[in-house]
Amino acid sequence: MTHPLPHEDLGAAWRAARPRAAGRHLDTAACSRQSSRVLDAVAHHARHEAELGGYVAEAAAEHLLQQGRSVLAGLAGMAAADLAFVESAQAALATLLAGWRLPAGSRVAVLPGEYAPNVALLRTAGLTTVPLPVDGVGRVLPDQLERLLAADPPAAVHLTHIPSHRGVVQPAREIAALCRAAGVPLVLDAAQSLGQADVDLGADAVYGTSRKWLAGPRGVGFLCVRPALAAQLTPVLPGPGDLPPMRAFESGEAHVAGRVGLVLAVGEHLAAGPDRVRQRLAALGSATRQVLDGAAGWRVVEPGDEPTAATTLVPPDGVDVVATRARLLTEHGIVTTAIGVQRAPGEMTGPVLRVSPHLDATLEDLEALASAL
Ligand SMILES: *Cc1c(COP(=O)(O)O)cnc(C)c1O
Repeated sequence: MTHPLPHEDLGAAWRAARPRAAGRHLDTAACSRQSSRVLDAVAHHARHEAELGGYVAEAAAEHLLQQGRSVLAGLAGMAAADLAFVESAQAALATLLAGWRLPAGSRVAVLPGEYAPNVALLRTAGLTTVPLPVDGVGRVLPDQLERLLAADPPAAVHLTHIPSHRGVVQPAREIAALCRAAGVPLVLDAAQSLGQADVDLGADAVYGTSRKWLAGPRGVGFLCVRPALAAQLTPVLPGPGDLPPMRAFESGEAHVAGRVGLVLAVGEHLAAGPDRVRQRLAALGSATRQVLDGAAGWRVVEPGDEPTAATTLVPPDGVDVVATRARLLTEHGIVTTAIGVQRAPGEMTGPVLRVSPHLDATLEDLEALASAL
């Protein structure tokens, strides 16, 4: 028996606030559905650009954008001056590494199951990755981390808070405290966690993306850096002297309408109440695992009560994940993601099907997926 989901009002409000889904959208971890207000605000800004001129429209939106910097940075425990809007989470990490200019060969500790594009960016920056100690589901073991930080401290720790290929949360607050005590900067990839977990945990840098759990537009991301670390960054070009240093890392030419949309989406997230959102998403994750584990021989990877809304499924022998994802979409209108081992080759042993509902999903959606499988 699955329990009734908490905060049904949130589910109903989330559903009513956006265009009707064509099918069953269970793919938030890839890209969420924007609300009508967010879509309208983006269109409105684009129209303003045509009416007023792009740079005039941007100046007119600056007050809203600055409020957005403040609120978004606040979710990471930082201030407006610490945040730069960028184009994606990947762009944020690239921007951070380019500005940091760590000496070639510096060691950065990462999860064995680190997101492959992040590892590629670290290596492109000339850095060497060393593995963080983890348990069987890929969760960091704090005691062993403490020993590693004492015995042979890396130049930095890069932690993906919730990975893309598995709905498991890292003990990031504990890790941040250990890194702080050891004097090792911690960079937190919050692409999968902001909007479904607390990211105000004491990391020195936090970056993420708009389109996943915050349900903002695509093509927008952000980088937040605490002043002590920001002071060590060198931008390609100095920013205007009257702006905070992190603004030198904000791309000057940008999809400003998308940034406006992200600001509205963050406002909607706060209005819904981040704690209630997390509770309902965690309950949806548990329900997903309960309904799908064992369905047609598919097996759930995450512990059932893991407080995330992302679930991954290992196929039964002989079943192809890519073909299943395509069949679910074309025959049943169910949107999911097929994830191959190349996403996290250090941890994955085979492809998985990822199911990631947002607040509007129902038990009936999950049961429909179970029968479709
Ligand atoms: C999606 C994702 C990214 C990259 O985000 P983009 O906005 O596509 O660049 C980085 N890290 C994790 C864990 C992700 O899931």
